[in-house]
Amino acid sequence: PPPKDEMEFQAETRQLLDIVTHSLYTDKEVFLRELVSNASDALEKLRHIQATGTLSGATTSTSAENDDVPLEIRITTDEASNTLTITDTGIGMTKSEMISNLGTIARSGSKAFVEGMKIKKALDDASDLDPFGQGIIGKFGVGFYSGFMVADQVDVRSMSAGKVADDDATISTDDHHHHHRAFVWESTGTGKYSISPLSPDIRQDRGTSVVLHLKPEMAHFSCESTVESILKKYSNFVGFPIFLNGNRVNTMDAIWLQDPKSVEEEKHSEFYKYVSHMHDEPLSTIHFRVDAPLDIKALFYIPSFHQEKYGMGRMESGVSLYSRKILIEAKCLDILPEWCRFIKGVVDSEDLPLSISREKPQDSALVGKMRKALTRKIISHLTTMMKKDNDKYKTEFYKEYALFLKEGVCQDFDSQQPLSKLLLFETSKGMSGELVSLDEYVSRCPPEQKNIYYLFAPSRELALQSPYMEGFAKHKREVIFIYSGIDEFVMANLKTFEGRNLLSCDRSELELPKSEENDAQKEDKKGDDDDVPTSKTSLSKLEATEFCNWFQTTLKSKVAKCTTTDRLSSSPAVITDNESGALRNLMRLLESQEG
Ligand code: ADP
Ligand code: MG
Repeated sequence: PPPKDEMEFQAETRQLLDIVTHSLYTDKEVFLRELVSNASDALEKLRHIQATGTLSGATTSTSAENDDVPLEIRITTDEASNTLTITDTGIGMTKSEMISNLGTIARSGSKAFVEGMKIKKALDDASDLDPFGQGIIGKFGVGFYSGFMVADQVDVRSMSAGKVADDDATISTDDHHHHHRAFVWESTGTGKYSISPLSPDIRQDRGTSVVLHLKPEMAHFSCESTVESILKKYSNFVGFPIFLNGNRVNTMDAIWLQDPKSVEEEKHSEFYKYVSHMHDEPLSTIHFRVDAPLDIKALFYIPSFHQEKYGMGRMESGVSLYSRKILIEAKCLDILPEWCRFIKGVVDSEDLPLSISREKPQDSALVGKMRKALTRKIISHLTTMMKKDNDKYKTEFYKEYALFLKEGVCQDFDSQQPLSKLLLFETSKGMSGELVSLDEYVSRCPPEQKNIYYLFAPSRELALQSPYMEGFAKHKREVIFIYSGIDEFVMANLKTFEGRNLLSCDRSELELPKSEENDAQKEDKKGDDDDVPTSKTSLSKLEATEFCNWFQTTLKSKVAKCTTTDRLSSSPAVITDNESGALRNLMRLLESQEG
């Protein structure tokens, strides 16, 4: 018998498998989408190698023997044996690749799933805390392991397109070159899996076959018509032919290359689910093409929710880079600025070389140019949504993605000013929860007010009662209220908006009208001598000066200056220009991120 290597799954993988097989994961059919997507990824990798003649990391080179095998996905159902097999003629896996790819979770999506599931368990007793109704977990793809939702045994037969790696060749003493190269990975989805050379009786071309031995209660997945309808639903956009029991099923539209006006909403909904691995509907679609100075065809989606909730970790880029339908890079990192990582979709450009390398200055310059153009488009799309569909912008987009925009203001200097126009704040004028943009704030300012004022407070109530508000309230000046250190950090980073300074209300210099100009107290003051109190509770000027001197000598270096003010109406004193406030908050923010 061929040597069989028994191995154990990594602890995290066991955990995931346990969740996948035993949880109430209702959307079981998504396993097919995941396996077809892996088949398509494997074919994309091979096509890339064939187009460039190289494979990054180059320990592998394709062998000629299978070069005539077409790039395709073949799916077969067998009701008699209750199996479903997904075969691709893609890059395949060596034995060591099987160990590292199928035995461990490298994929951040699966990691996020495990984290999310732990949280879901914690939330289970309080299901009203689940804001997505159907449960956030049902909206995630879990990759290869999802096969174990429907199968009690999975066999993966594979032959790598590359040369045999050394560790694989030593497994068998058999002389038949072919048999060294094809391996079978088998597991029942419990703690262990095994890998052995594939028996010579089983034919295996270049690529991979995933054989699902279906659970008895999942027998409907070995029925052709069921499988066909699932394929139509999730895999219509796969860029390689899919054959089900010999018949072609997918229509293979690269809709991102089509005229944006000609693409129907259902196609977007379908394509969105395909590129994002999510099950919701896109909140918004950004589809455009540009010819000059660069050729760009882009199709972006904003999901209805983002995946950084509940401590599920930082999202990866959701955008893939293509050149004339050939995948250059999945989850491309620098094609969009980091704050755009919630965006899912594709960018296709004829100007991009297939063998793009960040080491080559001309390539990274090209990507930089594209990033600028794409970011501008995304911001202008959001600006339009804000103007034309303000309600949707506020209640759907901003509610979900405000933090990403704020991150952009702080980190993406090129987009800082246009992004600042997309921010919304509560102010002293509106009601609680009523948000306005900086443009709206400015449009309501009296002409003599040149700057924008904000006040950082723990809550609206405390902001309204704050001594810093008194002068503004007296003169009916609007003040922006911010309640988080992040917002204070945004203000400190932004510094100006359309030529106006963003100033905190705790400054000593405020452009408020002087008291004597329009103050009711002015009447009382008439005829008053400087040294006579202006009212029962006020001090004379001399007393005030003496008091300030006393204050200053007592506090010594703790204050720079102590002076009288007309900005207060009921509080006795305020501390101003305490500029370390923003810094303190930044420190608090960094600390909370580390923890
Ligand atoms: P992901 O596709 O996000 O990487 P999966 O759990 O779906 O995560 O798959 C894990 C890994 O297993 C893939 O990254 C790939 O390296 C490998 N793999 C899975 N299916 C195939 C296949 N059909 N052909 C080649 N490699 C595969
Ligand atoms: Mg996958």
